[in-house]
Amino acid sequence: MASPALLMRVVASAYSVAEKAATIVRNVMAAGDLGIVEKTGANDLQTKADRLVQMSICASLARKFPKVTIIGEEELSSDEVTEELIEDGHCEEILKKTCPAQYTGIKEEELVIWVDPLDGTKEYTEGLLDHVTVLIGIAYGGKAIAGVINQPYYNYEAGADAVLGRTIWGVLGIGAFGFQLTEAPAGKHIVVTTRSHSSTLVNDCISALNPDTVIRVGGAGNKIIQLIEGKASAYVFASPGCKKWDTCAPEAILHAVGGKITDIHGNSFQYNKEVKHMNSAGVLATLRNYDYYASRIPNTVKQSLVP
Ligand code: AMP
Ligand code: MG
Ligand code: MG
Repeated sequence: MASPALLMRVVASAYSVAEKAATIVRNVMAAGDLGIVEKTGANDLQTKADRLVQMSICASLARKFPKVTIIGEEELSSDEVTEELIEDGHCEEILKKTCPAQYTGIKEEELVIWVDPLDGTKEYTEGLLDHVTVLIGIAYGGKAIAGVINQPYYNYEAGADAVLGRTIWGVLGIGAFGFQLTEAPAGKHIVVTTRSHSSTLVNDCISALNPDTVIRVGGAGNKIIQLIEGKASAYVFASPGCKKWDTCAPEAILHAVGGKITDIHGNSFQYNKEVKHMNSAGVLATLRNYDYYASRIPNTVKQSLVP
């Protein structure tokens, strides 16, 4: 049999690398010393877990796929990566799937991998553990085409018998796996948004949508999970702050199941390696009924957010 296409090998490896990352996230918390550093301020934190996981993911994927461009959130010193951080396994089940025809010819140098080693760091430091995700997004031709989201503390409040953690993955043209796709309750408008990066504009935009319920939780990855599991009908964030590594993996998974994510103006995100990191014009995402929300974003909000 011919060897699996590069894209499938990258996704299969990213799956195992994300599981290793989840173990590191749990181990750092269990050891109790988070090593918190402020980046741009008190609402922009980095912990020892963010640092170790970034090293683990980037070094593990770079070793297997040396010509792929890998862009991670954290700026790290050029310390040697210890061998214990390297994961060289892969998920066999992913390798068994057929690569969509339009992606079979992809070469290493054409892929860009966007890594958020720990999304929801603020919540991690506050013990809101199920808000945390590890995000590995894979882009080709400027588009998010595949992604892995690991939720290290999925089920952590379900009791000692529950299996802790899960890995969700998806590829455009194949679908998304590792969760139960569920539609939000029909006829109800449930908006999910930031809990730690609110502003007047963020709140004004949500008020203008006149939602039945507003859910405030941390993490871009976590908010996309709320959409695909039917807990929320729209993710609305009318603010800069979210970056390409926050949206790449979530976008691929959401699009793989027929959802849509754009900035607040309706522009799609680009993920080529030269693109600026900041999603300056916010985020609007839904599994269904994108147009309902997009058509209700006030012009005053749009005018305040320059792409
Ligand atoms: P949130 O919904 O607040 O958890 O934000 C989603 C992602 O965007 C997280 O990775 C945040 O760290 C990032 N983010 C959003 N707003 C800001 C901000 N004002 N400063 C730094 N990071 C932000
Ligand atoms: Mg993040
Ligand atoms: Mg992060």
